[in-house]
Amino acid sequence: MNVDPDELQKFDALANRWWDRNGEFKPLHDINPLRANWFDGLAPVAGQHVLDIGCGGGILAEALTQRGAHVTGIDMAEAPLAVAKLHRLESGLDIEYTKATAEDFAHTNPEHFDIVTCLEMLEHVPKPNSVVKACARLVKPGGRVFFSTINRNPKSYLFAILGAEYVLKLLPTGTHTFRKFIRPSELAGWLRAAHLELESMTGLVYNPLTKNYRLSVTDVDVNYLVCARKPT
Ligand code: SAH
Repeated sequence: MNVDPDELQKFDALANRWWDRNGEFKPLHDINPLRANWFDGLAPVAGQHVLDIGCGGGILAEALTQRGAHVTGIDMAEAPLAVAKLHRLESGLDIEYTKATAEDFAHTNPEHFDIVTCLEMLEHVPKPNSVVKACARLVKPGGRVFFSTINRNPKSYLFAILGAEYVLKLLPTGTHTFRKFIRPSELAGWLRAAHLELESMTGLVYNPLTKNYRLSVTDVDVNYLVCARKPT
């Protein structure tokens, strides 16, 4: 199975903090409106069937449901899924949460979703290209797949590991492993191999002085988002 138990353990251990906007998952809360807007602009989500792979506590799943999408969230860590289910009750939203790998889910639900999202997850699995392939299988022809991950270069080491985990302490130490970061060219190669067309890419840039995030089409050095389309 394409799962790293040590990675799941990290998310299990922190799960009860998932919806604390000022806690360990603050960066995900902060970037959520930006990324949801970007997706919604490229592929309006209202009325669409969306699969969120590696949904964790459901931050994106809830935001997309509020925009009118019918969302299914899958994850392999038990505790974040339990938190997502509790928070769903609190928010009164209709979302389906299931424990599954992308690969297994693709087996039982081929070409089932209009939109597939897989955010901040590829850098936590042993074989990210296998997840990309599963995404391609899960999405309907003509549908979109959105990814987000972290680039691999000296600047991303400085910002995403040293800066975020050690200096600014935005994330717990050990959240990310540098060698698991993914260059856009690598992701683009996996998309091609999975017969997905890369449509659009944008960087997500953090300004430590203003503590704000913004999208930047010219700076994909650290965090970035990708939109791919499955040909009809
Ligand atoms: N996508 C969410 C959470 C990102 S944290 C967001 O951006 O808001 C990464 C998530 O990936 C965690 O919830 C973790 O449990 C999950 N994950 C890690 N490996 C996985 C795997 N092999 N299959 C499914 N989910 C996985």
